[in-house]
Amino acid sequence: MAKDRKNPKPVKVKESCFDGFGVSAGIAFGKVYPREGGVKNVSEYHIAKSKIGDEQKRLSAAVESSKRQLRKLSARIKKFSGAAGEEISILFDAYHTMLKGSRLVRGAEERILKCQINAEAAVQAEIIEISSYFENMEDSYIAARIDDVREVGYRIIHNLTDVPDHTQKQLPRGAIVVARSLSPPDIAQIDPNNVRAIVAEFGGADGHTAIMARALGIPTVLGASEVARNLKSGSNIIVDGTRGRVVINPERSTVVRYESRRHNLRREVRRLDRLRNLDCCTRDGVDITLQANLELPIEMKMVNQSGASGIGLLRSEFLFMNRENLPSEEEQFFALKDLVQQMNGRPITIRTFDAGGEKSTPILTTGINEEAMSALGLRGIRLSLEKTEVLETQFRAILRVARYGHIRILLPMVTTPSEVIRTQEIMVKQARRLRRRGEKIPDKLPPIGVMIEVPGAALAADGLSRVSDFFAIGSNDLTMYTLAIDRANRYVAHMFDSLHPAVLRLIQFSAEAAFRARIPVSICGEMAGDPRFTALLVGMGFRDLSMAPSNILRVKNRVRGMDSLAASHRAHLIMDQTDKGRITMLLDDFNALA
Ligand code: PEP
Ligand code: MG
Repeated sequence: MAKDRKNPKPVKVKESCFDGFGVSAGIAFGKVYPREGGVKNVSEYHIAKSKIGDEQKRLSAAVESSKRQLRKLSARIKKFSGAAGEEISILFDAYHTMLKGSRLVRGAEERILKCQINAEAAVQAEIIEISSYFENMEDSYIAARIDDVREVGYRIIHNLTDVPDHTQKQLPRGAIVVARSLSPPDIAQIDPNNVRAIVAEFGGADGHTAIMARALGIPTVLGASEVARNLKSGSNIIVDGTRGRVVINPERSTVVRYESRRHNLRREVRRLDRLRNLDCCTRDGVDITLQANLELPIEMKMVNQSGASGIGLLRSEFLFMNRENLPSEEEQFFALKDLVQQMNGRPITIRTFDAGGEKSTPILTTGINEEAMSALGLRGIRLSLEKTEVLETQFRAILRVARYGHIRILLPMVTTPSEVIRTQEIMVKQARRLRRRGEKIPDKLPPIGVMIEVPGAALAADGLSRVSDFFAIGSNDLTMYTLAIDRANRYVAHMFDSLHPAVLRLIQFSAEAAFRARIPVSICGEMAGDPRFTALLVGMGFRDLSMAPSNILRVKNRVRGMDSLAASHRAHLIMDQTDKGRITMLLDDFNALA
């Protein structure tokens, strides 16, 4: 049979697997959508004929800036020895050449002239046209060239505009986002109705990117080394967020195997769903309160579906992310009021903004030296006390919503009683200011509690318990700072283990300080949402756990199958151990009996 030259048989591509951290459960099938180095939200607008020259000059200036940046990068890379340095520097030189009158730049210039549109929209349109032309070719060399065009194009767009990155909003329905790295603000922009799964080369299971992905309930694998390399847009992909595996170009037999696993997982979800309206009570009758952690208002539906008895941790950072100006008191008031009202009388613990470290929130940190923003720098309450006017505004908004529900206020990254006392004074002052303004706020101000998430705070918990109305133990940061392991760093993420005896002892120490001071104590780190840890936490005396809404029913299932007395005996045994391996074994054995 003569070969069909127009429609050559597609080249069969090999299946490849990548392992990483399964940070948000579920199995998804779809097409790869590579996220290319942070493209900006490009809006198109018409420009007058008389302004065409100016617009082209703006484009040239952006191209010149891009060249300068690439020259600098190239010079730096050239200092690296070895083949990798050489290869990257050749690549940068190629980018540089593309900026000198390539199809991309020429095309954009012409579009400004012919279509009378702004420069960034012209570059964006050119990227799309060039990519779609080559997209269907089964050739990894060409695929890499498309990525080069995008890389260069997006650099120009970055230099043309300074608006935050909103790429994710433009994703096609059913896309599976694959990126080298994704920050929490990147995830915040993802629309869970459009995106089926997320994969990134960087990141660990307990970083904020992972938490945000869990919050959206999208199957996610992070720390999957090299997955984004040579990846073709539109390739078939399976993401197993439960086991942490990514399969690109899966064989038919692999698809069948994963379909069957997905079927089983869905059956499990339906089984758990039946628990929603049942009590959360151990077999021997101890009530355990399960609340939700909330990162984004979009999760509210999931909070309600999960049967959470309240919000144990509202990470208010969402109010400050991906924006160019600070939210006003009014804006924060309406956003919070909406959430509080949706809770219908169920309690809600609002944490004041926790920026710094890996929680990049530029609007809160502009003007502050980058060095000061490290994980050991101005994070949490330290930043709030540095930016008192922002904290004051947030307090006014929170105090105003207090009359619409049961509010508690939680302070992040506290280390000393003086930070709590200073913050309380700020709140009282703002309450007075609101009353003078004639605002209705409750006579009794909301309780103020502290996150116990720094080893020093845990060790000095008795002092903090005297000035705090409640404790919420943040096992994520407590583990990170105790073990000196960056939550989001894939190189050490496998060592991040809250079962380390040092972490467990700090948790127990803080809980006991709260029990002695008779103040409520909850745990709201990722540990609280993992059914594997439930018996240990209940056995240690915790009665209040707060977690990602997607974990509530799984934890409830564990609570209902457990005897609290047996859990307490096992917790005592575990707390006597000094070896992490033995702790793990004792806990897993106990869970296996359930
Ligand atoms: C924690 O550190 O455990 C915590 C709940 O806070 P976040 O994850 O927001 O830092
Ligand atoms: Mg924390």
